[in-house]
Amino acid sequence: MDLLANFIANRSVPARSGRTLEVFEPATGRAYAQVASSDAADVADAVAAARAAYPAWSATPAAERSRLLLRLADLIDRDAESLAQAESRDTGKPLALCRRVDIPRAAANLRFFATAILHTSSALHETEAPAVGSPQHALNYTLRRPRGVAGLISPWNLPLYLLTWKIAPALATGNTAVCKPSEITPATASLLGPLAAEAGLPPGVLNIVHGPGPDAGAPLVTHADVPTLSFTGSTPVGRWIAQHAGHMLKRVSLELGGKNAFIVFADADFDHAVELAAAAAFTNQGQICLCGSRLLVERSIADRFSAALVERVAKLRLGDPLDPHTDQGALTSRQHLDKVARVVDQARTLGGRILCGGSRPNPDLLPPRCRDGYFYSPTLIAGLDPACEVEQQEIFGPVASITAFEEEPHALALANGTTFGLAATLLTRDLARAHRVAAKLDVGIVWINTWLLRDLRTPFGGTKHSGVGREGGTDALHFFTEPKNVCIGL
Ligand code: NAD
Repeated sequence: MDLLANFIANRSVPARSGRTLEVFEPATGRAYAQVASSDAADVADAVAAARAAYPAWSATPAAERSRLLLRLADLIDRDAESLAQAESRDTGKPLALCRRVDIPRAAANLRFFATAILHTSSALHETEAPAVGSPQHALNYTLRRPRGVAGLISPWNLPLYLLTWKIAPALATGNTAVCKPSEITPATASLLGPLAAEAGLPPGVLNIVHGPGPDAGAPLVTHADVPTLSFTGSTPVGRWIAQHAGHMLKRVSLELGGKNAFIVFADADFDHAVELAAAAAFTNQGQICLCGSRLLVERSIADRFSAALVERVAKLRLGDPLDPHTDQGALTSRQHLDKVARVVDQARTLGGRILCGGSRPNPDLLPPRCRDGYFYSPTLIAGLDPACEVEQQEIFGPVASITAFEEEPHALALANGTTFGLAATLLTRDLARAHRVAAKLDVGIVWINTWLLRDLRTPFGGTKHSGVGREGGTDALHFFTEPKNVCIGL
């Protein structure tokens, strides 16, 4: 069985303790690899390597950092097929999705920030009125400098995509990094390290430490030499990180859970709305923080919409993720499958009506190698009280609810009626209403008549318990740099 090793100072190394964890293939339910199970000693090695590399890397001209990161993007393109296969096998997500989205986006993340740093400028503030006690005029200019070693912690649902979304701005701006990918899906991160070395990144600039969150993630959070932390994952872990990092006065970005509303007004393009709702609810088996898991539909079309959506969902092809025709793969772990099944059972006891799905698929209908895999049928539930626990918690699986609303204020109240505030989607042909509702949604991201369309320049992140801070574009460049104002008296 393959051992997926840590990557420290451009060398693949096992955990110091020699411990490993099993890595499972969700489609088969069987272990297919071992991954280093690291702890504080390995994190200390990685941080030491990153610290040693920092002076030279932060002094490397932006054009050279850009060249190396672009080279890494080219290597991801070169290995795109093997990376897509590895990602699909490791996560259970359809190979077609990995080919179309996950791997190209990883290369795009690197290219975006590698070129962004060639186009930045510094702010200059001209002080025209004399300040109290100093009769001079002045010029202020603001320098931006990297902050040192960045700790980058990522989840299992979009492994290479989200890890490179953090690595790219951190390294482009001159920081060095220690990454802690999810222990559930370590495969593509373990392939990325050697590619970074091949691209010419100096030893210690990018380090990857695998292992369970409490053993390998927590020591990174509390390490005194890691002043910057970028975390994507669940709200409870985000809260833990905020507490500990706050105590140490670290800079933290937290991209957390969601329970996103997908609002369909009666005047929307009906067929487009049905198609988009199926994609928003079930892409990657509903395991995207941006999935629209609460479908809110205007009462006058709610029955027709539910029926059409059930018909559309029945056409989703559930099967072996490695089959390029599969739309719905497996959930990422046995534990997660059990959680999703439990929540659907809870929905039943709370009076929810299962419109489709609601169970694991018949194993006899799956390819033989997938009969013990972690599959769950796409599930639509109607009739839940919006205040009930199922409607308030993030399920993060192929489960969405449908609720009818009366008018715009009702839709808004339902959409904003959770502790989360990541994203919302609304479908309407009424331009004035689109802008009015978008302005009142308490979320970080709104899509109108589209879903998951991402421009990497735009701010990405959530309100309330969906996170603190923004990633993307200038926000990321600012997050990973420290501004310093220099005032010159004239
Ligand atoms: P998780 O919080 O369990 O784990 C995320 C990462 O944190 C993993 O690498 C894990 O090992 C690590 N970790 C766990 N405990 C830790 C600790 N005490 N200290 C440091 N690191 C620790 O999340 P998950 O189950 O891997 O991912 C699913 C969650 O991620 C969902 O809630 C989803 O909404 C969220 N998510 C959010 C976004 C976003 O951009 N807002 C994107 C993708 C996923």
